[in-house]
Amino acid sequence: MKKRQFLKVFSVATVGAMALSSGVWSCAGADSKHKLKNWAWIHPLETADPAHSADEWKKLLNNLKKWGIDSALLLTQNTKIIGEVLPIAKEAALELHAWIIALNWPDKTTMKEHPSWYVVNGKGESCIEKPAYVDDYNWLCPSNPEVIEFMKKRVQELCVIDGLAGVHLDYIRYPDVVLAPEHKAKYTIPQDDLVHPMADYCYCEVCRSQFKKLSGMDPLTIPDQATNQAWLNFRYDSVTHLVGELYDVAHKGGKVLSAAVFPTPYLSKFRVRQDWIKWKLDSVMTMIYHRYEGQPVEWIETATREGVEALAGKIPYYSGLHLAQLTPKELGVATKLSLKAGASGIVVFPGNKMDEAYWRSMKEGLI
Ligand SMILES: [Zn+2]
Repeated sequence: MKKRQFLKVFSVATVGAMALSSGVWSCAGADSKHKLKNWAWIHPLETADPAHSADEWKKLLNNLKKWGIDSALLLTQNTKIIGEVLPIAKEAALELHAWIIALNWPDKTTMKEHPSWYVVNGKGESCIEKPAYVDDYNWLCPSNPEVIEFMKKRVQELCVIDGLAGVHLDYIRYPDVVLAPEHKAKYTIPQDDLVHPMADYCYCEVCRSQFKKLSGMDPLTIPDQATNQAWLNFRYDSVTHLVGELYDVAHKGGKVLSAAVFPTPYLSKFRVRQDWIKWKLDSVMTMIYHRYEGQPVEWIETATREGVEALAGKIPYYSGLHLAQLTPKELGVATKLSLKAGASGIVVFPGNKMDEAYWRSMKEGLI
């Protein structure tokens, strides 16, 4: 499995007939404020063909369009790949967004030149030397002004690309504080749902000094580190602030901004400190990967409803569905449940795995 595929799978941490795609209001039960729209998270085709030939792209994008997908989220920051794919997407009448990995940044040069940009855990250990869970769990600190500038520059670089519809943020969060049950079982870590210092971030100099200014306390020495509300809020707000800055950059550059987030507002705050209900975004895509949470397919409806109700129509909500966790038949069920609970559409992950069988079932779910 390629690293990014692994990370995406790990990260629970990313269709109607033509007539059902853009331009048609969502069906009964869905949030009537927003149009029905379906998306696909797609990986670049480097694995199949290092040259990722135009023919390969053409086949994938035309198929996605045929299968009722309106917008593709392409996992790359590489402007050359985006430039190659854009005209093909345009010809297929598919909207293209650049899907980027935001804060998980295991880049050797950045780690060497800017070690202070990286998060530090509750034991005072940098994620560079002691990453949690896996070797490349090297994460940038969202509170650090230099990191914010760095992130703004990354979004800015994408804004100059003509024809690109938007930027899609993934890994816009802290490292997992408490893993979902299916992931937790794979590691020799405490199997409870408590916050442990080894996975509790961030206690870097910047965070400590900013929080001290705000509250008079040093988070490293407070007795209720795991539960202190002001300290929890500081972390939620830190990511919310970064997203707001990136939203302004994207909009100034004529692009929309969306994000992939954890499955429900509660679980997002609990597992990775994403308070996405408050984020400045144009749309949000939840990764409702039910199996990671040990839940049945029906839970997709519960999770969707929780998010849709919390957003109260502020922005469109799309249920992200993991094809590896769903049979074709279940994709139809999950699609139906998502729309019933108020989603404005679905996002399939990964779009590269879509086929006729999935499509037929998904179409039924959209009716
Ligand atoms: Zn920090």
